[in-house]
Amino acid sequence: MRKKIVAGNWKMNLDYNEGLALFSEVVNMVKDEATGDQQAVVCSPFIHLHSLAALAKGYSNVAIGAQNAHQAESGAYTGEISAKQVKSTGAEYVILGHSERRQYFGESNELLAKKTDTALKNGLKPIFCIGETLQEREANTHFDIIKSQLVEGVFHLDADAFGTIVLAYEPVWAIGTGVTATSDQAQEIHAFIRAEIAAKYSQAVADATTILYGGSCNPKNAAELFACADIDGGLIGGASLKSRDFTDIVKAFN
Ligand code: PGA
Repeated sequence: MRKKIVAGNWKMNLDYNEGLALFSEVVNMVKDEATGDQQAVVCSPFIHLHSLAALAKGYSNVAIGAQNAHQAESGAYTGEISAKQVKSTGAEYVILGHSERRQYFGESNELLAKKTDTALKNGLKPIFCIGETLQEREANTHFDIIKSQLVEGVFHLDADAFGTIVLAYEPVWAIGTGVTATSDQAQEIHAFIRAEIAAKYSQAVADATTILYGGSCNPKNAAELFACADIDGGLIGGASLKSRDFTDIVKAFN
């Protein structure tokens, strides 16, 4: 069985104390909700990672992640954070290729392939984001865009990496907009992604890959999305900043 994950992406929100306070609530609320193969992950700004990882210790179904890491192992990259540094905080995951990184920081598939390699090499589990813009969907090029993000971003990896890496389909037009993809739209793309993995590797590899949906996922729509055959959980932005909403989304698995 592939892992089911609800991952929160706090983005550039919450100061140090606010982050600790929110996470303390989240741990208390979700620790009994994520069961079996289900995991709740909180991807915080770097400043929180070490403290959150300490709070999450002892709960196998709660993990911490970063939102980015550099492609180089170490060196003269002022202001950047390496995968090894992230790992040393106790974090387990790292979001790579979020559309905000692609859009505002010019991150290409080629760069993200390198970041993925470095993250995996340092024992982090990448949550690798892909998804089309509104213009690309309207031009009916969304399948091509997603395929090229897969081919150029992760299809250089060995098959066994797909037991570690998590994919997140996030249509850019649904992120932070309140416009969620319908469950049919999301399922269609998730099935496409899984079929592409099966064609490149094998059906067994495709079946073992966790694929999350992200984009205005909330307590109201989560259950319908997560009930889809190829949707294995969510990557949650805005709603992850409220402990009740985030917990209700984790509960939507059940
Ligand atoms: P949203 O963000 O849930 O606020 O739409 C999702 C994301 O950016 O990962």
